[in-house]
Amino acid sequence: MIALLDKFFARHAPLRRVFDYASASKEIISLCPGCESVLSGEGEALCNSDRYGYPTRTQWCPHCHMIFVNPRLTSECYGRLYDEGIYRAIISAFSGKTDGHILPQKRIIRLVSLLKEQFGEKPLSILNIGGTRADYDALKAGLQVKDYLCINPGGEEAGCGYKVEKTTIEDFNSQGRLFDVVCLFGTLNHLLWPLRSFKKIESLLSSDGVFAFDDKDPIAKMLSMRHPAGALQFDHAVYPTKYTLSHMFRDSGLSCLSYDTDNQRVFFFLAGKITAGAGKQDFFDVEQEKISLQLLKKRASKIRPKLFLQLFLSFLRRSV
Ligand SMILES: [Zn+2]
Repeated sequence: MIALLDKFFARHAPLRRVFDYASASKEIISLCPGCESVLSGEGEALCNSDRYGYPTRTQWCPHCHMIFVNPRLTSECYGRLYDEGIYRAIISAFSGKTDGHILPQKRIIRLVSLLKEQFGEKPLSILNIGGTRADYDALKAGLQVKDYLCINPGGEEAGCGYKVEKTTIEDFNSQGRLFDVVCLFGTLNHLLWPLRSFKKIESLLSSDGVFAFDDKDPIAKMLSMRHPAGALQFDHAVYPTKYTLSHMFRDSGLSCLSYDTDNQRVFFFLAGKITAGAGKQDFFDVEQEKISLQLLKKRASKIRPKLFLQLFLSFLRRSV
C-alpha cells in the first residue's frame, strides 16, 4: 500500500521537470555491491522513494548491511547525469543552493593534519579520486606533494598545477604506478561496485601507503529523520554502513588504521594494506546496526508527510 502511494506521489514530484527519472535507463543488480553475494529474491526492502520524491527503490544486504538502490541507473546514465550538469541542477532545485565545491571542505583540512602525523615531511605521491580544485589547494598548502593526479569522469575540475585524467577508478590504468596516498572524498556513495573499487585502490597503494576516505553513516543520518527516505537519493547508488566497511576492508586486503568523527555521522577513515599492520575493528556494533535497520524499515512503512507537500507544490507549478 505504501509502495503504491509512493509511486503515485513520485509521479507528481516537482523535480521530474529537472530530471525525468521514469524514462532514464536502469539496471537491476543481482549481486550486493558491498560483498558481492547473490541477492536472493527481493532481499530486504527499505524505501520506495527518495528525498527528491523519485520512485527509487532501496534495499539492504543481510550479509554486510550495505544499503543500495536497486534498480539503479545504468553507468552511462549516471555518466550523463554528471557530465551534463543535471546532478547539480537537481541539488540546486531541491535545496535552492548552488553546489559549487568552491571552499576546501573541512574534511580535507582534517585529512591534511592526519597525513602530516602519518608521514611527517615525506614528499608524497597522491591520487585523488573525483577530487576538486579546493582539495588540491588544501593538500598542497599543508603537505609536501611530490606529485598529484586527480581522476574525474567529468573532467570539469581540470586546472592549472595538476593533472586530471578523465576516467573513473574502475577504468583507471596506473601502468604500474603506486601511490603514498589515495583519497576518496564525498565520492563513496557514487561508486557502483565499491568492493571492486576498494580492491583496485589496495593494488594502487605503496607498501606503507594510506587510503583516506569519508563516509556518512547512513544509519545515523536516517535515524535522525522522521522518515528514512529523506536521507536517500537515486544518484547515490550505495550507502555502506560501518559493518559494510569492515566487510569491504577485509575482502579487499585493507585494514582500518584509524578513524575520526566530530558528530558520529561523518567518519574519516585511514586504511592501509593488511600486511602493513593490525587494524582497528572496533568502529561498528553489528547487533546495534541490525536493530537500527529493523527500526528504519518500520519507519519506512509509514506515510511520508513531505510527499503531500511535494504533491501540492507540483500542482502549484503545473498551474503556473
Ligand atoms: Zn552484502
